[in-house]
Amino acid sequence: MNTPDPVPVAIYTRKSTDAKVEQEVHSLSVQRASAESFVASQQHRGWFCLPEKYDDNNISGGTLERPALQRLKQHICEGRIKVVVINRLDRISRSLSQFLELTEFFEKHGVALVSVTQNFNTGDSMGRLMVQIIMSFAEFERSLIRDRVTERLHAARRKGRFIGGPPVLGYNIKPKGGELEIDELEAIRVRDIFELYLQLRSVKAAVHELHRRGWCNKKWITRDGKVSGGNSFSTSSLHHLLSNPIYIGKVTLKGENFEGKHEGIVDPKLFERVQAMLAGNSVQGGNRRRNKHSALLKGLLTCKACNALFVHTYTRKKNRMYRYYTCGHKRDHGADTCPSVPIPAGEIESLVVEQLFSIGTNPELQEMVCRQLNEAIEQKRVDLAQRRKTARQQLDRIHRELASSREFDALPSLIHHLESKQREAENLLERIDGEETLRAPSGGEIAGILNDMRSLWPSFNEGERCAFVRTMVSQVDYDAVDGNITLHFNDAGFLPDAGKGGAA
Ligand SMILES: [Zn+2]
Repeated sequence: MNTPDPVPVAIYTRKSTDAKVEQEVHSLSVQRASAESFVASQQHRGWFCLPEKYDDNNISGGTLERPALQRLKQHICEGRIKVVVINRLDRISRSLSQFLELTEFFEKHGVALVSVTQNFNTGDSMGRLMVQIIMSFAEFERSLIRDRVTERLHAARRKGRFIGGPPVLGYNIKPKGGELEIDELEAIRVRDIFELYLQLRSVKAAVHELHRRGWCNKKWITRDGKVSGGNSFSTSSLHHLLSNPIYIGKVTLKGENFEGKHEGIVDPKLFERVQAMLAGNSVQGGNRRRNKHSALLKGLLTCKACNALFVHTYTRKKNRMYRYYTCGHKRDHGADTCPSVPIPAGEIESLVVEQLFSIGTNPELQEMVCRQLNEAIEQKRVDLAQRRKTARQQLDRIHRELASSREFDALPSLIHHLESKQREAENLLERIDGEETLRAPSGGEIAGILNDMRSLWPSFNEGERCAFVRTMVSQVDYDAVDGNITLHFNDAGFLPDAGKGGAA
């Protein structure tokens, strides 16, 4: 049995300064111990460990200017080493080009590089190929580190934390930053604004109404004590508010929504309806101006399968115009997403009008409308009671804050801010109290309204017809499967005391 020639083996170890990047890497002594046992397993090939330690501590793998590595190269040049053992490839280098430089050097001196945990040996061609592949992965990973700051930002968004930007109406940024907390008073206002838009069906009209009420956008105190924001709404800032998914507890990153850490303050169904309506209306145009074809059910007709609004379309053939309603969801997401087919506009419009007027002569239907209105009113009462309670609590809190701010000579800007919040809270309470006069009409009253309107209908022009249907009806569900039409009534239309805001 012949004894192999003795092969002197050097063990190279390295640990970098960046504890976070290197978390998974063991200490120098552990690296060395595992390499030593590996060398021992190769005894049959004559391998033996050189006593000299080549340990680079606290040095990045991005440079070749490492003392132990330089010493290793020196000893290789002197012919004292035949094999270099490392734990992992990234111990010897973190960049492909440097690594190739090193392997070239090893090759020139007839030295093999062997990794304990990755099965390769630069002594053979397969091993060299492996090295290239592994290194290119390592390089790829490293280039990822460069983007880590942006990545961390994105990760925070994905985890739902609010990152920077001015605060939005309805929320305050917690003093330590990054997280949102609900401003209860403003939250009520935000919900009111969503409902207002749904009622008026036009951003422009809603802006007009907000101006009339004197409602402004978010106002806050900056870190250096200045009052910021509080601008009156424009069509674009209102549009921005109405389409901000922050209100249903989400944060947006590059057009993608992620679950937020904060609580939403707008009912997701309400938010969805507003989005559908925004998609249907343009930012600038009021309902009437946009609706030049007098589509009676524009913004009302809803696909039951998709919970999306139908859009009004038309084609011309031989100088005749054919109008249709098409499911907006189907149009945007493809034919296989919805069972509906385009509905001839004239037909469904007269069906809806017929159904609306038939209530005037049908006591059972009047009964049903009454029930529906009473349910809506009851719900509204519960909401109002909740809102009043919240507004009272907030008003009390503002009073306390004001008292202590005055006592401790707080910045005038802060006191001014609190005073304007106090006025807002008082106005809100007043308005809530005013809304309590709601009363559902009787069946007879409903019949009266509808019969009057029916007799006037032929004399209405198209705009008046649109306005009337919108006053009475808040939504028309169309079930594409069974063809059923369901009307949802607009309590504002039937309730003489409500709708003071005026949809004009
Ligand atoms: Zn649909």
